[in-house]
Amino acid sequence: MTRVLPDSELEMFPALEWPVVAEHMSSESRNALDQAMASQDGSVLSREQCLLLANAEGDDLLGLLVAADMLRRDLVGNIVTYVVNRNINFTNVCFVGCKFCAFSRGPREEDSYFHSLETMAQKAIEARALGATEVCIQGGLPHGLPPFYYRDILRAIKAAVPNMHIHAFSPMEIVYGVELTGMPLPDYLKMLRDNGLDTLPGTAAEILDDDVRFVLSRNKLSTEQWKQVVRTAHQCGIRSTSTLMYGHVETPTHWVNQLELLRDIQQQTGGFTEFVPLGFVHQNTLLFHQGIARPGPTLAEHLKIHALARVMLAGAINNIQVSWVKLNRHLSQLCLHAGANDYGGTLMEENISREAGATAGQYTSGEEFQSLILEAGRIPAERNTVYTRISLKVPPDQVAIEEALEPEFA
Ligand code: SF4
Repeated sequence: MTRVLPDSELEMFPALEWPVVAEHMSSESRNALDQAMASQDGSVLSREQCLLLANAEGDDLLGLLVAADMLRRDLVGNIVTYVVNRNINFTNVCFVGCKFCAFSRGPREEDSYFHSLETMAQKAIEARALGATEVCIQGGLPHGLPPFYYRDILRAIKAAVPNMHIHAFSPMEIVYGVELTGMPLPDYLKMLRDNGLDTLPGTAAEILDDDVRFVLSRNKLSTEQWKQVVRTAHQCGIRSTSTLMYGHVETPTHWVNQLELLRDIQQQTGGFTEFVPLGFVHQNTLLFHQGIARPGPTLAEHLKIHALARVMLAGAINNIQVSWVKLNRHLSQLCLHAGANDYGGTLMEENISREAGATAGQYTSGEEFQSLILEAGRIPAERNTVYTRISLKVPPDQVAIEEALEPEFA
């Protein structure tokens, strides 16, 4: 019978060694992980093996976590990266009505807001003064948005800070922009690219299964539309992140399906920069209060999704990010031991998770990231959005040269 692990034991997994933990695992799970580690390629695993790992409990779960950490070290080394960025949620007015969202407001609600182009440009100027290399822009979808507003945001920001990287507009916003302008999707994306869109957040994915999407949000773009936007963006030279929201109504089978799908897209386009598991923050959401969803992920689920992603995406998407806004500091460090190698962005003003009940705060400074990473026994480095430039953030005499040269970035 599978051993049930208390959280206190689960939290100790970073101290375990593979040969010891492997002895206690089922032969099926151990073989799957041995295969993935030997090939450093998640695509060698069969669907059954992936499902087995996604449902791992007890000693098999401990084995998955330890193997994911070993794979992480082999694939990307000991550096943990972060990007200095500012989040700008330019409006909270939205007609979509996702049940997991506590951020959106109706246009007449007292605390609804809409930033002008001038305000956004000013925020980008302030962000640059604080060392940001990226602004991340997403918002609600208000009725009656001027058709070219997303383009105009890009123009305003590039005019204010020409070399600021703009990471903006979820696939849902892209679909809305296409509807508003009547332009074909590829033309619309190229227009945004030519006006300064550098990369796209791979958000609005939640779970890419239309039955689950129907429960989470009836008005959201479909799985097919999400795939189309992301593939077309990659084909237009606009790279994106990839995401999955876990801990609500989905099952481990949905995780496997989505990781397979993301791996397939990556094999076709090479456009994903990273994978970001996003834990469901349940406190202030309809989805939880209507009794539809479970109350967010368990510790085992948080750790397992990061580890499963590292194993299944090995050789395809090598950067696995912890979303510090959804996790507390300690949990984010544990996820770094379960296969992750990136801390995401400093954000400066995070609103979406905070409104849903997350308590990790709105801003993590570069210095805080550095101490969290050093505390976890790894090497901090600031990166740009697409991981092509990194700068180590520890005194050089504290880093062995071999360790610093080890990582490879996608
Ligand atoms: S998640 Fe986005 S699209 Fe959905 S209700 Fe919230 S702001 Fe609107």
